[in-house]
Amino acid sequence: MSIEIQENTKKKNNIKKYLDFTFENLQIEGYETVYKITNEKTNLLAIISIHDSTLGTALGGTRIAAYKSFDEALTDVLRLSKGMTYKSAMAEAGFGGGKSVIIIKDKKDVTEALLKSFGEAVNILEGKYICAEDMGCSTKEVMQIHKKTKYVVGLPHEKSSGNPSKFTAWGVFKGILATLKKLYGSTSIKGKKIAIQGMGSVSHYLIEHLFWHGAELIISDIDETKLKKFMNVAKIVKPEDIYKQECDIFVPCAIGGILNAETIKDLKCKAICGAANNQLLDDSHCQILKDKNILYSPDFVVNAGGLINVSFELEKMGYCPIKSRDRIDNIYTSLLEIFKIADENNITTNEAAIKLAQFKIKSGIGKRLEKLYFNHSEK
Ligand code: NAD
Repeated sequence: MSIEIQENTKKKNNIKKYLDFTFENLQIEGYETVYKITNEKTNLLAIISIHDSTLGTALGGTRIAAYKSFDEALTDVLRLSKGMTYKSAMAEAGFGGGKSVIIIKDKKDVTEALLKSFGEAVNILEGKYICAEDMGCSTKEVMQIHKKTKYVVGLPHEKSSGNPSKFTAWGVFKGILATLKKLYGSTSIKGKKIAIQGMGSVSHYLIEHLFWHGAELIISDIDETKLKKFMNVAKIVKPEDIYKQECDIFVPCAIGGILNAETIKDLKCKAICGAANNQLLDDSHCQILKDKNILYSPDFVVNAGGLINVSFELEKMGYCPIKSRDRIDNIYTSLLEIFKIADENNITTNEAAIKLAQFKIKSGIGKRLEKLYFNHSEK
Protein backbone atom coordinates (compact mmCIF):
# COMPACT_ATOMS: atom_id res chain seq x y z
CA MET A 1 0.00 0.00 0.00
CA SER A 2 1.66 3.24 -1.04
CA ILE A 3 0.87 6.64 -2.40
CA GLU A 4 2.92 8.53 -4.88
CA ILE A 5 4.32 11.73 -3.46
CA GLN A 6 3.19 14.48 -5.78
CA GLU A 7 5.39 17.45 -6.55
CA ASN A 8 4.00 20.78 -5.48
CA THR A 9 1.86 21.34 -8.55
CA LYS A 10 -1.67 22.60 -8.87
CA LYS A 11 -3.17 19.16 -9.48
CA LYS A 12 -6.89 19.09 -8.88
CA ASN A 13 -6.92 15.60 -7.53
CA ASN A 14 -5.00 16.26 -4.34
CA ILE A 15 -6.99 13.97 -2.05
CA LYS A 16 -6.22 10.28 -1.86
CA LYS A 17 -7.92 7.65 0.28
CA TYR A 18 -6.27 4.51 1.71
CA LEU A 19 -8.44 2.24 3.78
CA ASP A 20 -9.65 4.56 6.55
CA PHE A 21 -7.04 7.26 5.87
CA THR A 22 -7.46 10.42 3.85
CA PHE A 23 -4.28 12.09 2.59
CA GLU A 24 -4.83 15.64 1.36
CA ASN A 25 -1.85 17.26 -0.34
CA LEU A 26 -2.14 20.88 0.81
CA GLN A 27 0.13 22.09 -2.02
CA ILE A 28 2.06 24.70 -0.10
CA GLU A 29 4.39 26.84 -2.18
CA GLY A 30 8.06 26.21 -1.44
CA TYR A 31 7.36 22.77 0.09
CA GLU A 32 7.65 19.43 -1.68
CA THR A 33 4.62 17.82 -0.04
CA VAL A 34 2.46 18.68 2.91
CA TYR A 35 -0.17 16.11 3.84
CA LYS A 36 -3.16 16.68 6.04
CA ILE A 37 -3.95 13.16 7.25
CA THR A 38 -7.20 12.11 8.82
CA ASN A 39 -8.68 8.84 9.98
CA GLU A 40 -12.18 9.14 11.36
CA LYS A 41 -12.10 5.69 12.94
CA THR A 42 -9.05 6.43 15.09
CA ASN A 43 -9.67 10.21 15.38
CA LEU A 44 -6.28 10.88 13.86
CA LEU A 45 -5.66 14.42 12.64
CA ALA A 46 -2.04 14.90 11.64
CA ILE A 47 0.15 16.85 9.25
CA ILE A 48 3.33 15.52 7.66
CA SER A 49 5.41 18.22 6.01
CA ILE A 50 8.23 17.33 3.64
CA HIS A 51 10.01 20.59 2.93
CA ASP A 52 12.98 19.50 0.83
CA SER A 53 14.54 16.11 0.17
CA THR A 54 17.37 17.16 -2.15
CA LEU A 55 20.06 15.85 0.20
CA GLY A 56 18.22 12.78 1.48
CA THR A 57 15.01 11.42 2.93
CA ALA A 58 13.00 13.95 4.92
CA LEU A 59 13.52 13.38 8.63
CA GLY A 60 12.16 15.21 11.64
CA GLY A 61 10.36 14.70 14.92
CA THR A 62 6.66 14.22 15.56
CA ARG A 63 5.18 16.91 17.77
CA ILE A 64 2.01 16.06 19.66
CA ALA A 65 0.14 19.12 20.89
CA ALA A 66 -3.26 20.67 21.57
CA TYR A 67 -3.06 23.46 19.01
CA LYS A 68 -5.62 26.26 19.13
CA SER A 69 -6.46 25.71 15.47
CA PHE A 70 -5.47 23.67 12.44
CA ASP A 71 -3.76 26.76 10.99
CA GLU A 72 -1.61 27.14 14.09
CA ALA A 73 -0.50 23.51 13.73
CA LEU A 74 0.17 24.01 10.02
CA THR A 75 2.29 27.12 10.66
CA ASP A 76 4.29 25.18 13.26
CA VAL A 77 4.95 22.14 11.09
CA LEU A 78 5.89 24.25 8.06
CA ARG A 79 8.37 26.33 10.05
CA LEU A 80 9.84 23.29 11.77
CA SER A 81 10.23 21.19 8.62
CA LYS A 82 11.99 24.05 6.81
CA GLY A 83 14.27 24.41 9.85
CA MET A 84 15.10 20.70 9.59
CA THR A 85 16.17 21.15 5.95
CA TYR A 86 18.70 23.81 6.97
CA LYS A 87 19.80 21.98 10.10
CA SER A 88 20.47 18.77 8.20
CA ALA A 89 22.17 20.58 5.31
CA MET A 90 24.50 22.46 7.67
CA ALA A 91 25.33 19.27 9.58
CA GLU A 92 25.79 17.33 6.31
CA ALA A 93 23.65 14.62 7.90
CA GLY A 94 22.38 13.34 4.53
CA PHE A 95 18.71 13.98 5.27
CA GLY A 96 16.06 16.30 3.94
CA GLY A 97 13.79 18.41 6.09
CA GLY A 98 10.55 17.00 7.43
CA LYS A 99 8.37 17.26 10.49
CA SER A 100 4.98 16.07 11.61
CA VAL A 101 2.35 17.09 14.12
CA ILE A 102 -0.46 15.10 15.67
CA ILE A 103 -3.21 17.50 16.67
CA ILE A 104 -5.00 16.57 19.89
CA LYS A 105 -7.60 18.28 22.05
CA ASP A 106 -6.27 16.96 25.32
CA LYS A 107 -3.32 14.88 26.57
CA LYS A 108 -5.68 11.98 27.28
CA ASP A 109 -6.28 11.69 23.51
CA VAL A 110 -2.77 10.26 23.13
CA THR A 111 -3.74 6.60 23.14
CA GLU A 112 -1.93 3.59 21.78
CA ALA A 113 -4.57 3.37 19.01
CA LEU A 114 -3.92 6.98 17.94
CA LEU A 115 -0.14 6.51 17.88
CA LYS A 116 -0.42 3.25 15.96
CA SER A 117 -2.73 4.94 13.50
CA PHE A 118 -0.11 7.67 12.96
CA GLY A 119 2.49 4.90 12.51
CA GLU A 120 0.31 3.38 9.77
CA ALA A 121 0.10 6.76 8.05
CA VAL A 122 3.90 7.14 8.14
CA ASN A 123 4.21 3.61 6.76
CA ILE A 124 1.87 4.37 3.85
CA LEU A 125 4.45 6.93 2.69
CA GLU A 126 6.96 4.04 2.36
CA GLY A 127 9.98 5.84 3.80
CA LYS A 128 9.54 9.25 2.19
CA TYR A 129 9.40 10.64 5.74
CA ILE A 130 11.17 9.35 8.87
CA CYS A 131 9.85 10.38 12.28
CA ALA A 132 11.45 10.70 15.72
CA GLU A 133 10.63 12.05 19.15
CA ASP A 134 9.79 15.70 19.72
CA MET A 135 7.73 17.81 22.13
CA GLY A 136 4.89 15.73 23.56
CA CYS A 137 6.25 12.61 21.88
CA SER A 138 8.87 10.84 23.98
CA THR A 139 10.51 7.50 23.29
CA LYS A 140 7.46 5.87 24.92
CA GLU A 141 5.15 7.28 22.22
CA VAL A 142 7.71 6.66 19.49
CA MET A 143 7.78 2.97 20.46
CA GLN A 144 4.00 2.79 19.89
CA ILE A 145 4.38 4.46 16.48
CA HIS A 146 7.13 1.96 15.68
CA LYS A 147 4.65 -0.92 16.12
CA LYS A 148 3.24 0.05 12.70
CA THR A 149 6.28 1.39 10.87
CA LYS A 150 10.03 0.98 10.68
CA TYR A 151 10.48 4.58 9.53
CA VAL A 152 11.42 5.82 12.99
CA VAL A 153 14.78 6.76 14.54
CA GLY A 154 16.07 7.28 18.07
CA LEU A 155 14.44 4.24 19.65
CA PRO A 156 15.53 2.88 23.03
CA HIS A 157 16.72 -0.29 21.32
CA GLU A 158 20.21 -1.80 21.14
CA LYS A 159 20.23 -1.34 17.34
CA SER A 160 19.01 2.23 17.51
CA SER A 161 20.60 5.44 18.83
CA GLY A 162 18.36 6.12 21.86
CA ASN A 163 17.98 9.47 23.60
CA PRO A 164 19.87 12.12 21.60
CA SER A 165 20.28 14.61 24.48
CA LYS A 166 23.88 13.86 25.41
CA PHE A 167 24.93 14.21 21.77
CA THR A 168 23.01 17.47 21.46
CA ALA A 169 24.75 18.67 24.64
CA TRP A 170 28.16 17.76 23.21
CA GLY A 171 27.34 19.82 20.10
CA VAL A 172 26.26 22.79 22.23
CA PHE A 173 29.52 22.50 24.16
CA LYS A 174 31.48 22.60 20.89
CA GLY A 175 29.35 25.58 19.84
CA ILE A 176 30.22 27.38 23.08
CA LEU A 177 33.92 26.80 22.41
CA ALA A 178 33.58 28.31 18.91
CA THR A 179 31.61 31.24 20.31
CA LEU A 180 34.34 31.93 22.90
CA LYS A 181 36.99 31.67 20.18
CA LYS A 182 35.19 34.34 18.18
CA LEU A 183 34.66 36.58 21.23
CA TYR A 184 38.09 36.29 22.84
CA GLY A 185 40.39 34.47 20.40
CA SER A 186 40.61 31.58 22.90
CA THR A 187 38.41 28.60 23.73
CA SER A 188 39.19 28.76 27.44
CA ILE A 189 36.07 28.35 29.56
CA LYS A 190 37.84 28.91 32.87
CA GLY A 191 36.17 31.76 34.75
CA LYS A 192 33.67 32.50 31.97
CA LYS A 193 30.16 33.34 33.13
CA ILE A 194 27.59 31.13 31.44
CA ALA A 195 23.85 31.56 32.06
CA ILE A 196 21.64 28.59 31.17
CA GLN A 197 17.86 28.80 30.69
CA GLY A 198 16.18 25.42 31.26
CA MET A 199 17.75 22.52 33.16
CA GLY A 200 16.19 19.63 31.22
CA SER A 201 17.73 16.68 29.37
CA VAL A 202 20.27 18.63 27.29
CA SER A 203 21.42 20.98 30.08
CA HIS A 204 21.79 18.03 32.40
CA TYR A 205 24.71 16.81 30.26
CA LEU A 206 25.95 20.24 29.18
CA ILE A 207 26.44 21.52 32.71
CA GLU A 208 28.88 18.67 33.41
CA HIS A 209 31.16 19.70 30.52
CA LEU A 210 30.99 23.37 31.54
CA PHE A 211 31.57 22.73 35.24
CA TRP A 212 34.68 20.60 34.74
CA HIS A 213 36.12 23.19 32.37
CA GLY A 214 35.86 25.85 35.08
CA ALA A 215 32.80 27.89 34.06
CA GLU A 216 30.97 30.17 36.50
CA LEU A 217 27.41 28.95 36.10
CA ILE A 218 24.05 30.70 36.45
CA ILE A 219 20.92 28.62 35.93
CA SER A 220 17.13 28.95 35.88
CA ASP A 221 14.11 26.76 35.30
CA ILE A 222 10.38 27.20 35.81
CA ASP A 223 10.43 23.80 37.48
CA GLU A 224 12.32 24.18 40.77
CA THR A 225 12.82 20.43 41.12
CA LYS A 226 15.20 20.57 38.13
CA LEU A 227 17.48 23.05 39.95
CA LYS A 228 18.05 21.41 43.33
CA LYS A 229 20.66 19.00 42.05
CA PHE A 230 22.86 21.87 40.88
CA MET A 231 22.53 24.31 43.79
CA ASN A 232 26.13 23.73 44.90
CA VAL A 233 27.68 24.26 41.48
CA ALA A 234 25.63 27.13 40.06
CA LYS A 235 23.92 30.36 41.07
CA ILE A 236 20.17 29.93 40.74
CA VAL A 237 18.09 32.86 39.46
CA LYS A 238 14.37 33.35 38.82
CA PRO A 239 13.23 32.44 35.29
CA GLU A 240 12.48 36.08 34.40
CA ASP A 241 15.93 37.20 35.63
CA ILE A 242 18.00 34.91 33.44
CA TYR A 243 17.92 37.46 30.57
CA LYS A 244 19.34 40.21 32.81
CA GLN A 245 22.46 38.34 33.86
CA GLU A 246 25.76 39.95 33.02
CA CYS A 247 27.58 37.05 31.44
CA ASP A 248 29.76 35.92 28.58
CA ILE A 249 27.29 33.48 27.05
CA PHE A 250 23.55 33.07 27.46
CA VAL A 251 22.53 29.46 26.72
CA PRO A 252 18.82 28.98 25.88
CA CYS A 253 17.88 25.35 26.52
CA ALA A 254 14.15 25.57 27.21
CA ILE A 255 11.66 26.84 24.65
CA GLY A 256 11.54 28.73 21.33
CA GLY A 257 10.75 32.39 20.64
CA ILE A 258 12.64 33.65 23.71
CA LEU A 259 14.74 36.14 21.70
CA ASN A 260 12.22 38.89 21.05
CA ALA A 261 11.89 42.67 21.44
CA GLU A 262 10.99 42.32 25.12
CA THR A 263 13.85 40.06 26.17
CA ILE A 264 16.58 41.45 23.92
CA LYS A 265 16.38 44.85 25.59
CA ASP A 266 17.25 43.16 28.91
CA LEU A 267 20.14 41.05 27.64
CA LYS A 268 23.56 41.78 29.11
CA CYS A 269 25.40 38.84 27.57
CA LYS A 270 28.14 39.05 24.96
CA ALA A 271 26.88 36.05 23.00
CA ILE A 272 24.08 33.49 22.73
CA CYS A 273 24.65 29.80 22.04
CA GLY A 274 22.13 27.15 23.11
CA ALA A 275 20.08 24.10 22.24
CA ALA A 276 16.53 25.44 22.06
CA ASN A 277 14.90 25.32 18.63
CA ASN A 278 13.70 28.55 17.00
CA GLN A 279 15.16 30.88 19.63
CA LEU A 280 14.57 33.96 17.49
CA LEU A 281 10.91 34.98 17.52
CA ASP A 282 11.56 35.92 13.91
CA ASP A 283 14.69 36.37 11.82
CA SER A 284 14.63 40.17 12.22
CA HIS A 285 15.53 39.73 15.89
CA CYS A 286 18.97 38.58 14.84
CA GLN A 287 19.57 42.03 13.36
CA ILE A 288 18.56 43.61 16.69
CA LEU A 289 21.11 41.36 18.44
CA LYS A 290 23.76 42.36 15.89
CA ASP A 291 22.97 46.05 16.48
CA LYS A 292 23.45 45.42 20.22
CA ASN A 293 26.78 43.76 19.46
CA ILE A 294 25.58 40.40 20.80
CA LEU A 295 27.02 37.48 18.87
CA TYR A 296 24.31 34.94 17.96
CA SER A 297 25.31 31.34 17.25
CA PRO A 298 22.45 30.03 15.08
CA ASP A 299 20.42 27.43 16.96
CA PHE A 300 20.00 25.05 14.06
CA VAL A 301 23.78 24.76 13.73
CA VAL A 302 24.47 24.51 17.46
CA ASN A 303 21.77 21.94 18.30
CA ALA A 304 22.38 19.50 15.42
CA GLY A 305 24.16 16.92 17.61
CA GLY A 306 21.05 14.81 18.10
CA LEU A 307 20.31 14.78 14.39
CA ILE A 308 23.90 13.89 13.54
CA ASN A 309 23.69 11.05 16.05
CA VAL A 310 20.61 9.47 14.45
CA SER A 311 22.13 9.86 10.99
CA PHE A 312 24.64 7.14 11.93
CA GLU A 313 21.93 4.75 13.05
CA LEU A 314 20.80 4.18 9.46
CA GLU A 315 24.17 3.09 8.07
CA LYS A 316 24.72 -0.46 6.85
CA MET A 317 27.27 -1.18 9.60
CA GLY A 318 24.81 -0.09 12.27
CA TYR A 319 24.86 2.69 14.82
CA CYS A 320 28.27 3.96 15.91
CA PRO A 321 28.46 6.60 18.67
CA ILE A 322 32.15 7.22 17.94
CA LYS A 323 31.31 8.38 14.42
CA SER A 324 28.54 10.55 15.85
CA ARG A 325 30.85 12.20 18.37
CA ASP A 326 33.52 12.91 15.78
CA ARG A 327 31.04 14.41 13.31
CA ILE A 328 29.46 16.55 16.03
CA ASP A 329 32.92 18.03 16.65
CA ASN A 330 32.51 19.76 13.25
CA ILE A 331 29.96 22.12 14.80
CA TYR A 332 32.99 24.07 16.04
CA THR A 333 34.39 24.72 12.55
CA SER A 334 30.94 25.25 10.99
CA LEU A 335 30.24 28.06 13.43
CA LEU A 336 33.57 29.76 12.82
CA GLU A 337 32.85 29.60 9.08
CA ILE A 338 29.42 31.18 9.64
CA PHE A 339 30.90 34.00 11.76
CA LYS A 340 33.40 34.67 8.97
CA ILE A 341 30.71 34.78 6.24
CA ALA A 342 28.60 37.10 8.39
CA ASP A 343 31.53 39.48 8.99
CA GLU A 344 32.67 39.52 5.37
CA ASN A 345 29.18 40.24 4.05
CA ASN A 346 27.98 42.43 6.92
CA ILE A 347 24.95 40.19 7.43
CA THR A 348 23.59 38.52 10.55
CA THR A 349 24.95 35.15 11.61
CA ASN A 350 21.48 33.67 11.04
CA GLU A 351 21.43 34.91 7.44
CA ALA A 352 24.96 33.60 6.94
CA ALA A 353 23.98 30.13 8.22
CA ILE A 354 20.89 29.99 5.98
CA LYS A 355 22.93 31.09 2.96
CA LEU A 356 25.55 28.44 3.66
CA ALA A 357 22.85 25.75 4.10
CA GLN A 358 21.20 26.82 0.81
CA PHE A 359 24.56 26.67 -0.94
CA LYS A 360 25.12 23.11 0.35
CA ILE A 361 21.66 22.05 -0.87
CA LYS A 362 22.23 23.59 -4.31
CA SER A 363 25.66 21.98 -4.64
CA GLY A 364 24.60 18.60 -3.23
CA ILE A 365 27.18 18.82 -0.42
CA GLY A 366 26.48 16.11 2.17
CA LYS A 367 23.92 14.31 -0.03
CA ARG A 368 23.30 10.76 1.16
CA LEU A 369 24.37 8.32 -1.54
CA GLU A 370 23.99 5.06 0.39
CA LYS A 371 20.60 3.48 1.00
CA LEU A 372 19.15 3.66 4.50
CA TYR A 373 19.29 0.61 6.77
CA PHE A 374 16.65 0.40 9.49
CA ASN A 375 18.76 -1.94 11.59
CA HIS A 376 16.34 -1.79 14.54
CA SER A 377 13.72 -3.56 12.42
CA GLU A 378 15.97 -6.12 10.72
CA LYS A 379 15.37 -9.67 11.91
P1 NAD B 1 13.48 19.25 28.26
O1 NAD B 1 12.01 19.31 28.09
O2 NAD B 1 14.11 18.04 28.85
O3 NAD B 1 13.95 20.50 29.17
C1 NAD B 1 13.46 21.78 29.01
C2 NAD B 1 13.54 22.45 30.38
O4 NAD B 1 13.18 23.82 30.23
C3 NAD B 1 12.57 21.85 31.40
O5 NAD B 1 13.25 21.55 32.60
C4 NAD B 1 11.52 22.96 31.60
O6 NAD B 1 11.01 22.99 32.91
C5 NAD B 1 12.35 24.20 31.30
N1 NAD B 1 11.61 25.38 30.90
C6 NAD B 1 10.51 25.47 30.12
N2 NAD B 1 10.16 26.77 29.97
C7 NAD B 1 11.05 27.50 30.66
C8 NAD B 1 11.23 28.88 30.86
N3 NAD B 1 10.40 29.77 30.34
N4 NAD B 1 12.27 29.29 31.63
C9 NAD B 1 13.11 28.40 32.18
N5 NAD B 1 13.00 27.06 32.00
C10 NAD B 1 11.98 26.63 31.27
O7 NAD B 1 14.09 19.61 26.84
P2 NAD B 1 15.53 19.23 26.28
O8 NAD B 1 15.46 17.93 25.61
O9 NAD B 1 16.55 19.49 27.31
O10 NAD B 1 15.66 20.31 25.12
C11 NAD B 1 15.88 21.67 25.40
C12 NAD B 1 15.63 22.49 24.14
O11 NAD B 1 16.54 22.05 23.13
C13 NAD B 1 14.24 22.35 23.55
O12 NAD B 1 13.88 23.58 22.96
C14 NAD B 1 14.43 21.31 22.46
O13 NAD B 1 13.49 21.46 21.43
C15 NAD B 1 15.83 21.64 21.98
N6 NAD B 1 16.52 20.50 21.36
C16 NAD B 1 16.68 19.36 22.09
C17 NAD B 1 17.35 18.28 21.51
C18 NAD B 1 17.59 17.01 22.29
O14 NAD B 1 18.39 16.18 21.86
N7 NAD B 1 16.94 16.81 23.43
C19 NAD B 1 17.83 18.39 20.19
C20 NAD B 1 17.67 19.57 19.49
C21 NAD B 1 17.01 20.64 20.09
